[in-house]
Amino acid sequence: MGYSAFQILKDALSGYKGLKPAWRDAEPKDGGYDIVIIGGGGHGLATAYYLAKKHNITNVAVLEKGWIGSGNVGRNTTIIRSNYLLKGNEPFYELSMQLWENLEQELNYNAMVSQRGIMNLIHTDAQRDAFIRRANSMLFAGAGAEYLNADDVKDRYPFLDMKNARFPIKGALAQPRGGTVRHDAVAWGYARAASDLGVDIIQNCEVTGFSIENDKCVGVKTTKGDIKANRVGSCVAGSSSRVMANAGIKLPIESHVLQAFVTEGLKPVLGNVITFGAGHFYCSQSNKGGLVFGGDIDAYNTYAQRGNLPVVEDVCSGGMAIMPMIGRVRVLRTWGGIMDMSMDGSPFIDKTPIKELFFNGGWCYGGFKATPASGYCYAHLLATDNHHEVANAYRLDRFKYGAMIDEKGVGAQPNLH
Ligand SMILES: Cc1cc2nc3c(=O)[nH]c(=O)nc-3n(C[C@H](O)[C@H](O)[C@H](O)COP(=O)(O)OP(=O)(O)OC[C@H]3O[C@@H](n4cnc5c(N)ncnc54)[C@H](O)[C@@H]3O)c2cc1C
Repeated sequence: MGYSAFQILKDALSGYKGLKPAWRDAEPKDGGYDIVIIGGGGHGLATAYYLAKKHNITNVAVLEKGWIGSGNVGRNTTIIRSNYLLKGNEPFYELSMQLWENLEQELNYNAMVSQRGIMNLIHTDAQRDAFIRRANSMLFAGAGAEYLNADDVKDRYPFLDMKNARFPIKGALAQPRGGTVRHDAVAWGYARAASDLGVDIIQNCEVTGFSIENDKCVGVKTTKGDIKANRVGSCVAGSSSRVMANAGIKLPIESHVLQAFVTEGLKPVLGNVITFGAGHFYCSQSNKGGLVFGGDIDAYNTYAQRGNLPVVEDVCSGGMAIMPMIGRVRVLRTWGGIMDMSMDGSPFIDKTPIKELFFNGGWCYGGFKATPASGYCYAHLLATDNHHEVANAYRLDRFKYGAMIDEKGVGAQPNLH
């Protein structure tokens, strides 16, 4: 099904009576599937799409316990970037950025990909050195990077508190190709394209267990009955530990809630995404004018999708430290999503000890920007049995060998990643 200006005009003239749902709401097939993906978030839907599109595997089902986009893909603060330092990460996130750049054409769907740029503020001389090192790594990977001095930053945003006594702003690392994407449209775009290629998207279908025979996964147990599958890929983000526990697998992942905030609409004031370098606060302005921002995870483990007031206070104090003008803006909405925090802050795309059962998760705060590459590389692994070269480091057993991908060098402390 294609969208075109002509089609929109035709629909308008016919009172939109001929509109059809963008994807088929399927029921499980008796005969089962070649591949079953658990989780209809961005990553699960992207995986199904690339399986069908790149590898011609269309006998695929995506099982979603709620509705498409009800998880983190529809809850995040929409930031995309490929400004990483380590070689296990940077090529992967750069592939993701390249896929974002062509996503709307590929899916024929308006996901509002906006490469408005991202600016990481610098507050100390040591941080400047660290960011310049990261910028060099980004330049080597073709991601692009710019260093802005304090005057450049002030010219761009005169309302920033450049001379804050605790956190003076000394410059910024910018990635002009970073930006934002309308998050739920990503789920809808992939769902529509995957469904067109024959993938079954099955909503309100919770996976409650695995059918395992002789150490081999042969299907899943669900609230819609048992479903047979030659291969199963879990892709459930914040619910990873709970789902994989059904197969007896313990993951190096903790679940925490991360909150997001949106204010009343303002006139255009913030052209980029901007991040505070001395604490956790990141902010962009939505196309409707609201400031969309977030900060730290709530420190305790939880599967609840709502957070607590101390973190609200902490996030707002981060915002006030760099842009005191937001103290006068009213917050309209806040919400939360469950984060799958891995112990080194980097994700997993891997096989498991159980044959034909695969795992994708551990995306922490940053999995939205990874959506296209995660789907692309997970589909590659599921279809070929081989890790994609840019996702080769995302192994579950890397802690055994000390091969951590600890971007910030902070160790096994989820709230610091
Ligand atoms: C507040 C917030 C802000 C964020 N900001 C950013 C950001 O700015 N940039 C960025 O890159 N990342 C950000 N993230 C992280 C990012 O959103 C996630 O890492 C990413 O969306 C996770 O992948 P997903 O889209 O597949 O997850 P989800 O959308 O959560 O998909 C997982 C799906 O699995 C389903 N599921 C769970 N259990 C079962 C089961 N038993 N059976 C069937 N289905 C099941 C869930 O219902 C869910 O729909 C943010 C996250 C939050 C919560």
